[in-house]
Amino acid sequence: MKPAEIAPDEVAWHARSGEETCSALATSLDGLGHDEAARRLERFGPNELPPAARTHPVLRFLAQFNNALIYFLLSAAVAAIALGHVIDGVVIVVVVLVNAVVGFIQEGKAERALDAIRDMIAPHAVVVREGERHTLDTREIVPGDIVVIEAGDKVPADLRLVRARGLSADEAILTGESVPAEKTEGPVAPDAVLGDRAPILHSGTLVTTGQGIGVAVATGPRTEIGRISGMIGAVQTLTTPLLRQINAFGTRFTWLAIATAALLFVFATLIRGYAPLDALMVVVALAVGVVPEGLPAVITITLAIGVRRMAARNAVVRRLPAVETLGATSVICSDKTGTLTRNEMTVRHLVTAASVTAISGTGYAPEGEFSGPDGTEPAPEAEREALIRAGLLCNDALLVEHEGHWAVLGDPMEGALVAAAAKAGLHPETERTSWNRLDEIPFDAQHRFMATLHDDPQGERRIFVKGAPERVLAMCGTQAAGGTALPLDPGYWQECIDACAAGGERVLGFAGMAVGPGVERLDFDMVEGGLTFLGLAGFIDPPRDEAIAAVAECRSAGIAIKMITGDHKGTAAAIARQLDIADDPKVLEGAALDGMPDETLRRVVEEVSVFARATPEHKLRIVNALQANGHIVAMTGDGVNDAPAVKQADVGVAMGRKGTEAAKEAAQMVLLDDNFASIVAAVHEGRTVYDNIRKVIGWTLPSNGGEVLCVILAIILGVTLPMTPVQILWINMILTVTLGLVLAFEPPEPDVMNRPPRPRDAPILSRFLVWRIGFVSVLFMLGVFGVFAYAGMRGYGIEGARTMVVNTLVVMEIFYLFNVRYLHRSSFSLIGAMGTPAVLGAIAVVVAAQVLFTYAPFMHDLFDSAPIGLADGLVIVVVGVALMAILEIEKTLTRRFAL
Ligand code: ADP
Ligand code: MG
Repeated sequence: MKPAEIAPDEVAWHARSGEETCSALATSLDGLGHDEAARRLERFGPNELPPAARTHPVLRFLAQFNNALIYFLLSAAVAAIALGHVIDGVVIVVVVLVNAVVGFIQEGKAERALDAIRDMIAPHAVVVREGERHTLDTREIVPGDIVVIEAGDKVPADLRLVRARGLSADEAILTGESVPAEKTEGPVAPDAVLGDRAPILHSGTLVTTGQGIGVAVATGPRTEIGRISGMIGAVQTLTTPLLRQINAFGTRFTWLAIATAALLFVFATLIRGYAPLDALMVVVALAVGVVPEGLPAVITITLAIGVRRMAARNAVVRRLPAVETLGATSVICSDKTGTLTRNEMTVRHLVTAASVTAISGTGYAPEGEFSGPDGTEPAPEAEREALIRAGLLCNDALLVEHEGHWAVLGDPMEGALVAAAAKAGLHPETERTSWNRLDEIPFDAQHRFMATLHDDPQGERRIFVKGAPERVLAMCGTQAAGGTALPLDPGYWQECIDACAAGGERVLGFAGMAVGPGVERLDFDMVEGGLTFLGLAGFIDPPRDEAIAAVAECRSAGIAIKMITGDHKGTAAAIARQLDIADDPKVLEGAALDGMPDETLRRVVEEVSVFARATPEHKLRIVNALQANGHIVAMTGDGVNDAPAVKQADVGVAMGRKGTEAAKEAAQMVLLDDNFASIVAAVHEGRTVYDNIRKVIGWTLPSNGGEVLCVILAIILGVTLPMTPVQILWINMILTVTLGLVLAFEPPEPDVMNRPPRPRDAPILSRFLVWRIGFVSVLFMLGVFGVFAYAGMRGYGIEGARTMVVNTLVVMEIFYLFNVRYLHRSSFSLIGAMGTPAVLGAIAVVVAAQVLFTYAPFMHDLFDSAPIGLADGLVIVVVGVALMAILEIEKTLTRRFAL
């Protein structure tokens, strides 16, 4: 059948055999040709689901108006126009419009930033084309592609299995069934329901165990998941618990303000005998003054900028709330290999029953010397050669040379074994061809070994096993020595293991066994017992330099580090000491946690900083215990089995490179470089985001407070309002938003990582912030009335006086901005005074706007403003400087008295 005739989604593939499927789709186990794949991609389109429907831009724009205050403002505008104050009404409408446009644009920018970040962790799959395995973006998969799948993968398309080994998949998203379904190759009845289609792996489901190979039979929207719903893959919404809290607070506050304003209106007209229009204007001024209109938008942008900064430091946030939680993290639980260490392995020692051999060389280049204890070349030894061969054959890694640089494809530890074999003069390809592999049991962190079955060049069948040495020793009855098999001497091997581990080496044990010619497949029973132990290999995997620095940063930031590793106790302890993760790192083996009561565990997790030979279940218990102690826990994971612990953690962190899709799905954050330092960088940014949100709030609210105090005081004193409602609108919705936005871009303060993490339930409005908001509100009010009185004394008209007041408020806001940029230290410094480009740019915009406001005739018409003289301008600046001075004194005092 020609591909043009294929209508893959019409066929009940589960009722056909694998071969039938391949031939129907004009493909074979060698995969499609590159040209054919390109043609099919053209014809079937990319393998992706249509994006979830987004809110239409027009609706999104209208949503900007869906808020109680806006309704109130618009009705006030209508009332003002009806009562003859056309200009005031129009100004209100224009200010509301400008505010909506700005909000709309900024929201769009923030959303696009998140979209771009999502693309950074686009899934990949292993696809066979022209006989070679390639790692492709899953969007490139076409019907007929041969896809290789293993535990932890997310199935990239609907696949008809042609080979399944211990395969099972979690199909809950399709069938709702939470128990993983077993997957096999044999056809089932044509009318089998979705959950019974054993030979089909459905797109979007997660492979929980095993390995397999399948033919893609449907891609993109033609997959089962694509048919059920056109819009899986939820749109990331711009919301976090904090933002929801602030929004809810804002809504309630707005209604309260409106209700109070309405009461005040009744009071003013009925009891005080105000004219309705005057009363309306006072009431509008109060409501507008009290509500911080721009705050939610600025906080959203602060979060989005945090996400972007984290991505730039290789930490991709998948769920926005993590941005907030990260800043409060008090414990980081991390893998060792590849996260704290470089994962660039080199075999340093080979140990057999009779000898210890050192190997020189770095990286994966096949260059290095073997030397015995006395430094000379060791005599040839059959056992050592068998050990090296086992390491090469029980191995899936490839070494590739590119411009003189050797790199590993696959597991770095296995790559190191290939390099060691090459140093010993074995040719990897030749050996692997002449020792044909028939079957394997892949490595799994749960059982900690890997086994392979081979035919040797003489036609004899052999098993090789490599894995955690205690594990492999337990499978052996004998050891290879002097050309025969002698009884196993566990004491000797344990000494050798401890010696290697004490030096920080990762130790692997090897074993082998001859089996009868009838053995075609490997299973667990076959390798449990009866093997002959061949020896050990010790690998060095030095700590990453960045990790050492990041660990130090965590310790100064009061963040505890727990290393949770599958590796040997001695190795883990040595690496923990090299990293200095605690003063005297206590080490515990995972097995010690089994059966330990939760109470005890809660105490233990505080004291112990290294958990060795730990399994994914141990990780989950450790997270739970730490959380029960009140910690905010970040936990790394890469395997399928890590998903529960990663999900349970406050910040689940998945590895971008070596991590499975299952771990990534469960995680809130993905590390592009698998590096511990990136977690710490994200915490650093998380703390900065939280600081900046506090700054935004601490800076925005006093202007509202000051305005409200002014309005109330004016009513109590029975004097004219120092600002008109539209002038208050101008300040709040145009100027304050522009200035406040720069705080979203604030760089971290120098001491962010020198203070302890904030407590889990610390309110965003701390005592200090509440005091500060009240204090500054009063200062703003004093400044306003002072200048208003001064203008009155100078005999300026009401327009001139109000213009001075508006300018004074803006100048005070600018000076206060410099003060707030450093919550924890003095702003009187050169860097403090220079600001950032964002600060200076915003000030330039605001100053230009104020010059227009003060001197442009059309602004005089719109806002009832009037020009003011240079000397009065100076007076205003002096008020600002005085405010700054008072606040710096206050900062010193409150810091001294630890408010
Ligand atoms: P880590 O926490 O250091 O990443 P793993 O869970 O990956 O540890 O591995 C645990 C142990 O399993 C290792 O110390 C090693 O002894 C063994 N092991 C790791 N990778 C392999 C492999 N590819 N083949 C055989 N054994 C392995
Ligand atoms: Mg590992």
